[in-house]
Amino acid sequence: MEKLAIDGGKKVFETPANIPSWPPVYEDTAEEIKALYLSHAWSFYGKKEVEFNNEFAKYTGAKHCAMMANGTVTLEVAMQALGIGPGDEVIVPAYTWIATGEAVVVCGATPVIVDIDPETFCIDTDRIEEAITSRTKAIIPVHLYGSMSDMDRVMEIAKKHNLFVIEDCAHAHGGEWNGRHVGTIGDVGSFSFQQSKTMVSGEGGACLCNDDELGDKLGRISHIGYQYAAKQGQAGTPPPMGLICHNYRVTEFQALILLSQLRYLRRDTELRAANAEYLRGRLNAIDGISCQKPGRCATLQGYYNFGVRLDSDRLKDGITRAEFVKAVCAEDAPVGIGWGNPMYRQKLWSVPENMYRISSCDVAERLATKDLIVIPLQWLMTPREDLSKLADAFEKVMAAYAK
Ligand SMILES: *Cc1c(COP(=O)(O)O)cnc(C)c1O
Repeated sequence: MEKLAIDGGKKVFETPANIPSWPPVYEDTAEEIKALYLSHAWSFYGKKEVEFNNEFAKYTGAKHCAMMANGTVTLEVAMQALGIGPGDEVIVPAYTWIATGEAVVVCGATPVIVDIDPETFCIDTDRIEEAITSRTKAIIPVHLYGSMSDMDRVMEIAKKHNLFVIEDCAHAHGGEWNGRHVGTIGDVGSFSFQQSKTMVSGEGGACLCNDDELGDKLGRISHIGYQYAAKQGQAGTPPPMGLICHNYRVTEFQALILLSQLRYLRRDTELRAANAEYLRGRLNAIDGISCQKPGRCATLQGYYNFGVRLDSDRLKDGITRAEFVKAVCAEDAPVGIGWGNPMYRQKLWSVPENMYRISSCDVAERLATKDLIVIPLQWLMTPREDLSKLADAFEKVMAAYAK
């Protein structure tokens, strides 16, 4: 057996992997940003904001797109536009970023937490119906790390119980379910462009929808009531009375940066998907390791991170996921463990127990605390030799640490 780097052996990566820095930057975009700065026109339904809304809608096949400040307020605005508020319940998955659940609380509604599927790590659609009550108004499936929630099942359940569906697509830019872009299947699709995501503008987000009235509301709520594409000081028609609006605007700089990334979204999505396929083949061949499955009807998956399940029961006594990951990292192959806990126990989760409902979430508990390893998205953009060595590092550590 080869000596692990953590025990003083030779590293799998003798020279560091070619992991691209993130977010990506482009010289021509840098020039455009300078020109935009010199133009004095920095915000308020400016040219770039309207152009991005149009282009992202076109790319995804949505009828409307509304850019906003981030991917948390997009969830809040979506719920507000759908009339969700105090007394209502919204179903969310147990393993996601805290924003998915906290956005529900900010709206005055109650998150109802449902366990995840052991293969896709997205909401377990077989567990949704038992969580539905007369107060349930919506389901927020999260397309975790780019894998897709079973949207056929989610939509079927939503239809049967007359519920709204808000797709949390913060991890899934570029992904397609049966040829339809994620975020266009439910009532609203919510995206984040925060700097760790696949499309990045520092901060930013967007809602997609196909309904004209809803599209109008999404725009107005995020622009303090202004009609879509109105000029500052010229509000156009007023918002409906009772639609309480906010200011969640973006700047022209964010829109410009995203427009530059949209040019490469398909190319990069396809590259990540092909690399993910290769990595899946290699890692699934290792006893005790199984990769997060793509969505059942994924025609193109928009990979964010790459989820790996390490069956920690297969490790020698005393060896845990933490040691396994540390040993892989010591081979100069940086990987992580994700959030380390289900949503309702993450460090920043601040919602008291009487403000949410939950049933047993054994799958999310085990995955988050014991088994999940997360390979950051930049790995999916490295040359094949590096991906091959990454898999070698997993093989090497497993050979040393398996029972
Ligand atoms: C990042 C993220 C959000 C929130 O996006 P921000 O732009 O950071 O506010 C929502 N849901 C999920 C699943 C996320 O990962």
